[in-house]
Amino acid sequence: MRIGKIAIVGGGLAGLTAAIHLASNNLKVVLFEKDTFPRHKVCGEYLSKEIIPYLNSLDISLKYLAPVEINTLNYSTTSGKKVSSELEMGGIGVSRYALDNYLYKMAVKRGAEIIPETVTDITYSNDIFEITTSEGTELTADFVLGAFGKRSIIDKNLDRNFIQKKSEWLAVKAHYRHEDYPDNLVSLHNFRGGYCGLSKVENGAVNVCYLATYKSFKEHKAPEDYKNNVLSENPHLQSFFQDAKPAFEKDLTIAQVSFDEKSLIENHVLMLGDAAGLIHPLCGNGMAMAIHSGKMASEAILAFHNKKLSNRTEVEEGYQMKWNKEFKTRLLTGRVLQSILINPGMAGVSQNLISKLPFLLPHIIKRTHGKTVA
Ligand SMILES: Cc1cc2nc3c(=O)[nH]c(=O)nc-3n(C[C@H](O)[C@H](O)[C@H](O)COP(=O)(O)OP(=O)(O)OC[C@H]3O[C@@H](n4cnc5c(N)ncnc54)[C@H](O)[C@@H]3O)c2cc1C
Repeated sequence: MRIGKIAIVGGGLAGLTAAIHLASNNLKVVLFEKDTFPRHKVCGEYLSKEIIPYLNSLDISLKYLAPVEINTLNYSTTSGKKVSSELEMGGIGVSRYALDNYLYKMAVKRGAEIIPETVTDITYSNDIFEITTSEGTELTADFVLGAFGKRSIIDKNLDRNFIQKKSEWLAVKAHYRHEDYPDNLVSLHNFRGGYCGLSKVENGAVNVCYLATYKSFKEHKAPEDYKNNVLSENPHLQSFFQDAKPAFEKDLTIAQVSFDEKSLIENHVLMLGDAAGLIHPLCGNGMAMAIHSGKMASEAILAFHNKKLSNRTEVEEGYQMKWNKEFKTRLLTGRVLQSILINPGMAGVSQNLISKLPFLLPHIIKRTHGKTVA
């Protein structure tokens, strides 16, 4: 079989990376994205540096976006006990508004076709996929990469297991202006019912992004109430909000954030990024993993194109093997961490343990991050 066309559903970090990688290798790529660029996304916007060499190898330099360099983590318990740790590899602060738009432009430049429509259906028969959009476009493809993020209409149509269950999490994000917040610092502050990350992005704004349980949120009418009554119980967050000025008219929110296990391949669609599994944001690694999964899927397809793999089964098995080797333990560690750090019964003890034994923090970070991706 010769590869005619590869369809990518979703133009977030995973989908755009795969589009750039495959199109740069002269394969015909069609990417569907339901939103228009640029756009803000609910995300902490701390990008682990592990992925930078790989992006450079695709001739993508994020230096053009002037991100901030981040090398220190502050962690605080619900009551405000704080520990600090240097981040061995560190990361950069860059908004999804700038980053995704930049990758989108790169994908177009490398020859990927972008269709700004919502995919509603993906079917597979006789070794070929058929893709349908809500705008009526129908397209056939030899491979489909599912890069449609945490939750999509496609998950429902593919009847994926996780979609049947209600998640206990929602997430909120906004940018703020704050004169004293340091460039090099990412802070993770716990509060009753969740945790909140703070870090700067390229334009000097501070990203404030938190994950909260519905249970704790529902007693409050709006994010503003919740911020004043629950987040601000942590003295570090209270002090931040006192001096910070909102840069967004309204907070962005997303519902039903699921951390459940997902299938990696569904009806022969290779799942990438969050569509394959979302790591808990406290690990600060989902963006790098999404980009890395775009690399893995692209390499598996290119190996087939270059006759190093001989059929679809080998492509699927190859991708699955690499993904599991790289990410399975990290996702599991993220789940365990979340359950001990946030679970109301254990949170007090575990958070205090970290504040008393600060040397634990670098070890925890290491277990949820990968090595540099060459
Ligand atoms: C609260 C929170 C904070 C986080 N903070 C961080 C952090 O600081 N650092 C970090 O590394 N990670 C963080 N993450 C994780 C990170 O945001 C994700 O792992 C990353 O965005 C995954 O990228 P993706 O490409 O898989 O999905 P996305 O970036 O979500 O992209 C999916 C794309 O698919 C499109 N789409 C969906 N359905 C369709 C359809 N049917 N048709 C066409 N297009 C479709 C969407 O519009 C979207 O553009 C955080 C996550 C959360 C929830």
